[in-house]
This record gives sequence, C-alpha cells and structure tokens, in this order.
Amino acid sequence: MRPHGDDPVAPGDGTRCVRAGLPPPAAGQPFRPGPVFAAPYHLDPVAGAQPGTDGYGRYDNPTWRALETAIGELEGGHCLVFGSGMAAITGVLLAAARPGTTAVLPSDGYYATRRFAQTTLAGLGVRVVTVPTAGPYPPLDDASIVLLESPANPGLDLCDLAVVAGRAAEAGALVAVDNTTATPLGQRPLDLGAQLSVASATKALTGHSDLLLGYVCCRDPELVERIRRWRDATGAVPGPFEAWLAHRSLGTLDVRLARQEANASALTELLLASPAVTGVRWPGHPGDPAAALARRQMRRMPGIVTFVLPDKPAVDRFLSASRLIAAATSFGGLHTCADRRAQWGDAAPAGLVRLSCGIEDSADLVADLSVALAAVTRSGN
Ligand SMILES: *Cc1c(COP(=O)(O)O)cnc(C)c1O
Repeated sequence: MRPHGDDPVAPGDGTRCVRAGLPPPAAGQPFRPGPVFAAPYHLDPVAGAQPGTDGYGRYDNPTWRALETAIGELEGGHCLVFGSGMAAITGVLLAAARPGTTAVLPSDGYYATRRFAQTTLAGLGVRVVTVPTAGPYPPLDDASIVLLESPANPGLDLCDLAVVAGRAAEAGALVAVDNTTATPLGQRPLDLGAQLSVASATKALTGHSDLLLGYVCCRDPELVERIRRWRDATGAVPGPFEAWLAHRSLGTLDVRLARQEANASALTELLLASPAVTGVRWPGHPGDPAAALARRQMRRMPGIVTFVLPDKPAVDRFLSASRLIAAATSFGGLHTCADRRAQWGDAAPAGLVRLSCGIEDSADLVADLSVALAAVTRSGN
C-alpha cells in the first residue's frame, strides 16, 4: 500500500518496512547487525566518556538506535524506545502533566493507563478527566496533556484526531495519541497534529507474541530531550535482545497487517450474521458508527474485532469449541486469539470479547468461528 495522496514515486509500505532502520549495504556485513549486549562500554582511559560514544547501557545502545531509526521513519518523528508500552505511556504522562493542571484521558481506552492516571497522577495533584474517545470533548483550557487512543482498546471507537489536536493547540495543551491498535502504517498521529505518538510495540507492531516493548515518537527536539531524560533517570529501557527481535519483526508488518485486516473483514461478516452476537465493532465495516471517520483518518484497518456474547458461560462455550482461537490477552499477533476483557478488571460487559485476527488462512478461521458461534447458539442463548 502506498501513502495516500503522496508522491507516486515514494516507496510503498512493504518496501518501507523491509528497509526501515537498516544500515547502508557493506560487503561482508549482515543486512542488520546483531544485538549488542553491554552494561558498561570501554571508555578512553585518559579522555573518559566522550560525546557520541556509548558509555553505559541505561543511556544508549546501538541496537535500540537502529530500531528507533526504523520506527521513527514509519511514524515520521524522532523515536525513543521503552521497556514496555506502559513504560512509554507513563513516561509521557509524568513528563507532560503538571500539578494543578488537567490530564484528559479516554474513558474507554486501555484500562491500565486510566488506572495509572487515577491513582499515581491524581496523587501528584494532577486533575484527571476522562472523556469517551468519540467525544464530546470538554474545554481544554486548563489541560497540560490530552491523551487520545484511536481506535480505542477494546471498544474500537475513533476520535477525530485532527479536530481535537487543533482544539488542544489553541488551549496550549500537548496531545499524545496511543497508536497501538492502528500502528504507524494505519495512521500517523504526528501528521494529524499530535505532538506525541506513543504505543505498545508488544502488539501488532512486532506481532510475534514474544516480547514487550514500547515507544514514543515526537518532532519537537526539546520534548524529545525531556522524555529522554525521564527514560535515563527511571531506567525504563528495553533489553537489546527485545529491540533486535522487534526490528526483525518490523520487516513483515505490511504483510501481517494486510492479512489481519482481510481476516477481520471476513470474521466481522460472520459475527454480524450470528443471532448470538451483539455490539460488533470493526471500523472497516461500512455499517460501523466510526466507518466514515476511519476512512478519512486511517490508511488501513486494524485486525481486531470487538463483540458481545450474552454472558461469561457463552464466552466459555465459544472458546472451548474453537480450535484456532486461543484464549489469550494482547492482540496483533500471528495467532488469532480472543480475550474476555472483564476478567482483567476492565469496565466491560461480562460477555465482551476482543478478537485479534492472526495471519491464518481466512477460510480456516471462518470455518472455526462458525463452529464456535454454533456452540453458543446451540445452548439456547
Ligand atoms: C497493551 C497496550 C498498552 C500497554 O502496553 P504494554 O506493552 O503491555 O505495556 C497500552 N496501550 C494500549 C492501547 C494497549 O493495547
């Protein structure tokens, strides 16, 4: 897929992902250097620590830098990687929210972020206001930071990012967008007016369910330095091996997302046709309340579909009858999985399921989902 409305000779998404962050070809060298494992590095015994030379592993690492270059290219900003998505998000909130001001957060977004804000941030004297992703948004005059999440996890509602970013800019507030569900191929928050794009790279970005990682992207050098100082001080850094695995996985992002989107489209049709299912949300479906905004704002649709079964026993039957849908949290991975969100303390209905479509063949998933849905309807629900 090519960036929409862009230069026709600009490389497409597949090409950008394959090449992101790679060094220029050099004979005898690998395409991508291996991970560098180091706590201290050798210093010059006389001159000591030198600018531009690695000295200690909490401050920098060449394997992170390669991944930061790659993600920065895709997001269109300077990237800082963190040990997890929550390390990145809490870092942004703590670096940006000031006591006596307001932090605006989604009421329907990732529950751990909301919980952090309502306990830790509020405890530091920050007023925390939660707003549904789709709005309406209150006046933002006393806000220092507005964190948006679009599409929101798990409800998949959308926020008109350019409109809210415009209003926040007038009020002098920073806008951060949690870009986890969309990924930088799905949307580029910095192009839409946000100052910060922040995400869990644990999910679709890396997609192999084998690592935890997060990142922040930003164009303002002063803000980048503020967040870098936060990372230096707290040590919320990723391990080099995770960073290296993540960079390897990034090369296939375009093809993984394409298959996941196709699978989500096929499974959404099946879910909409089932009498056991209500509340199906997938922004790629023309009937979805967020479809028009999704087409305007996003470059591709996520591989996640959210729906509601009558109750927990119905979800139990659904998961037990399926052969291909793993019961697991997280999303965006190769393997299709389903998560009953209420089990985590997310304020969701007991039967709400977040279905993360993997990259299996669509026909196999359709057949498997049909069996799982039949097991729910058969029992009279
Ligand atoms: C998973 C998730 C996070 C947290 O990421 P971790 O890598 O698990 O720390 C943050 N935001 C969203 C939207 C998520 O789905």
